[in-house]
Amino acid sequence: MVTESEVQTKDDLERRNKAWKHCAEREDYRCAICGQVPPYGEREIYFESGLCGFHAHTLNKDD
Ligand SMILES: [Zn+2]
Repeated sequence: MVTESEVQTKDDLERRNKAWKHCAEREDYRCAICGQVPPYGEREIYFESGLCGFHAHTLNKDD
């Protein structure tokens, strides 16, 4: 069952995602390997590694 607060939280997350994407594209935040703007949830990984979550994870596995 979905409560109203859950809907608002999801909506809020969507807004944050969009705001992040606008910001990231303007600042040219892109994964060094695939050139994709990292998703909002992976921005911390991006700032640490310069890679999207997927590629940061892939490189860490090889290490
Ligand atoms: Zn990538």
